[in-house]
Amino acid sequence: MIAPVLPTYHRAPVSFARGEGAWVFTPEGEAYLDFGAGVAVTSCGHAHPHLVAALSDQAQKIWHTSNLYQMPGQERLARRLIDASFADTVFFTNSGAEALECAIKMARKYHASQGAPERFRLITFEGAFHGRTLATIAAGGQEKYLDGFGPKVDGFDAVAFGDMAAVEAAITDATAGILIEPIQGEGGLRPCPPEFLRALRQLCDARGLLLVLDEVQTGVGRTGKLFAHEWAGITPDIMAIAKGIGGGFPLGACLATERAAQGMTAGTHGSTFGGNPLATAVGNAVLDVVLADGFLAEVQHKGLLLKQKLAALKDQHADIIEEVRGAGLMLGLKCRVANTKLQQAALEQKLLVIGAGQNVVRLLPPLVISEDDIQEAIARLDRACTVLAAAVQE
Ligand SMILES: *Cc1c(COP(=O)(O)O)cnc(C)c1O
Repeated sequence: MIAPVLPTYHRAPVSFARGEGAWVFTPEGEAYLDFGAGVAVTSCGHAHPHLVAALSDQAQKIWHTSNLYQMPGQERLARRLIDASFADTVFFTNSGAEALECAIKMARKYHASQGAPERFRLITFEGAFHGRTLATIAAGGQEKYLDGFGPKVDGFDAVAFGDMAAVEAAITDATAGILIEPIQGEGGLRPCPPEFLRALRQLCDARGLLLVLDEVQTGVGRTGKLFAHEWAGITPDIMAIAKGIGGGFPLGACLATERAAQGMTAGTHGSTFGGNPLATAVGNAVLDVVLADGFLAEVQHKGLLLKQKLAALKDQHADIIEEVRGAGLMLGLKCRVANTKLQQAALEQKLLVIGAGQNVVRLLPPLVISEDDIQEAIARLDRACTVLAAAVQE
């Protein structure tokens, strides 16, 4: 008999009733250290007092009005995202995939509004992940997500990650732009070299293409800058964000320059829930935390600290860990054993981590993680590796 919840997930046999900072607690009160943050979502940790207050205050006032009326909370969040980024305008969504859908539609509409509707194709990269809607599984191009779901949505041309010659060769008269994650998340914590992002920017400028970034996972402070592309010193034309901006409340956004957004006039796109008062109240509270003086410098500092400790762990457990990769607080361990085994061994040490492609285990702690909790995670990973190594020996 089918489960009451559609059985599309592999779920660990544990549930959490409460959280505080980087810790979550089972209904029985057992504490787990959360280095997954619900896949890079709970950027401010669990039950952050400022976020709790923002959501509770808004909940007393009004929850939902639809986008048929003025939305002061949205306006404020949009203005703050614009002031802190390359963007001139923002569309709010409930999820990452919807933010990408908006980005893809916008890139197509831009060329249509320029009189070139035949330019609708985006160049994408092998190993990418952009969500689970029909268009975003086509953009991600992974067979395991496409299989059985009918004809693949047309308009995406995948090339090898980091291969500039392949990108150039893939450009045709139908190309609208290039879509890329600055660090592939689900694909296995593969950073895109800054020179490569710069070269893509130049290529887009030279060929009249739009550079579309998927910062759903890398954005909102995860790498120690507000957005990961800042490390490369470039700006995109269009960018999708989600995950961290809601701190656990479903919220995403598509940010764009005025030029890139020129086709998106009244009636061309919409969402019933996107950017509702509850979501944007939390989004504004997240920005209060992340944009506070010194916060991102702290993320950089803690990211380096974690990376150094992981490098030492790798040296101690070279039989388990092959490589440490990633940036800021978006780090991955490429494993010599199955990544699911390390994930399971960590769970047994009451440490939550997340799998990724290329046999990687992801560490995505809340951005507010303390140095003590980083040390504790390392101790738990150390024990997990020791247990695993002993099991491999047997
Ligand atoms: C999670 C993710 C998405 C999809 O976001 P959803 O909220 O699950 O729709 C898209 N792109 C990247 C890079 C992601 O990490």
